Amino acid sequence: MLQSFEFKDRKVILRVDFNVPIKNGIIQDETRIVKTLPTIQYLIQQGARLIILSHLGRPLKELLPDGSINYSKFSLQAVASKLAELLNCKVYFAKDCGDEDTQLKLQSLAAGEILLCENTRFYKQEEKGDSEWAKKLAAFADFYINDAFGAAHREHCSTATIARFFDKDHKAFGFLMQQEVENGLKVLQNPNRPLTAIIGGAKVSDKIELISSLMDFCDAILIGGGMAYTFLQAMGYHIGNSLCETDKLDLAKTLLDKAAVKKIQFLLPEDSVSGQHFANDTNIQISTDQNIPEGFMGLDIGPKTIVTYTQHILNSKTIIWNGPMGVFEMENFSTGTKQIAEAVSRATQQGAFSLIGGGDSVAAINKYHLQDQVSFVSTGGGAMLEMLEGKQLPGVQAILN
Ligand code: AMP
Repeated sequence: MLQSFEFKDRKVILRVDFNVPIKNGIIQDETRIVKTLPTIQYLIQQGARLIILSHLGRPLKELLPDGSINYSKFSLQAVASKLAELLNCKVYFAKDCGDEDTQLKLQSLAAGEILLCENTRFYKQEEKGDSEWAKKLAAFADFYINDAFGAAHREHCSTATIARFFDKDHKAFGFLMQQEVENGLKVLQNPNRPLTAIIGGAKVSDKIELISSLMDFCDAILIGGGMAYTFLQAMGYHIGNSLCETDKLDLAKTLLDKAAVKKIQFLLPEDSVSGQHFANDTNIQISTDQNIPEGFMGLDIGPKTIVTYTQHILNSKTIIWNGPMGVFEMENFSTGTKQIAEAVSRATQQGAFSLIGGGDSVAAINKYHLQDQVSFVSTGGGAMLEMLEGKQLPGVQAILN
């Protein structure tokens, strides 16, 4: 536990997830930075000499045309300024991660001061989980704290390998990561029942493993979004021009069979709001059954489905939600997602535990200002999905073992 350590005057490496969207040097959404402030503030108040590490984007995968790294696009410099502004204190910035500039600035770093190092992913060793580089970074500090839940599913140098160089009394989760892990475990270990998962989003291929794992411990799964139509097609319904992954039809059938064998309730939309084109301003039809009219595409769950799903949600004691019910970015196809968000919020007020599991469902819950009306909104899209899939997260294991 973070609180059980004595940090005064000690050097502490804090790995965070500052992978924020930046356009022309301006941070578009600072949520990830804000979420780590409690850990940062705690450590500096305790008098730690704080070295912060983070990745930003995928600089080695998005090289410049001449094959070199786009340092300016993927620099954490703008994050250093934002962090200083949010904390109202000076934040030193090292132009490298662990090399000369880091070492120089570290020499004069006093208790309670912060040094943010440049993007860990500028180094090819990072994504390889390279032991030598991890050892070099570890040597800078007495403690290692991981608050980067969003990167916990990666076995990278600064998220996992580095922790091997610290014993149990010198490493811990940050406050955010602790909360993420505890809330994830709440639904995985002895959840109150009925346990309902609401899964939406564009593609079934992204969530096959998730749906299959959820079938092992959920009582009901409610499917919405574009992925519903691959299932409906697999069941023989007409889906018009709706999104369909034809190469995943067999897998969809396998999942439908698994749901039947497991005797869990696996619900698909009973009706849909369909559009002629993928646009807000298009001809709209509300189907009365599971078939989509020729020339139309299903873009939201329909009114009957909303009623059925809402009833299920209100009867649940634990709720997991990942993925919107429709193209909620377009006003005419946002009702399903909005109503489901409201149902999750109402169920929570009635005592259910609700976990919003990352990605676009987080954007949706924020859009309807319901983020404070649910039990927990995860910051880690991919990491939370992998946790719910029952996988061990390298970043978590590295702290625990
Ligand atoms: P995901 O990242 O897989 O959770 O997908 C989220 C995206 O799925 C959002 O941008 C939605 O607009 C999109 N989406 C939801 N429902 C549909 C649908 N019926 N057809 C096409 N796209 C959809």
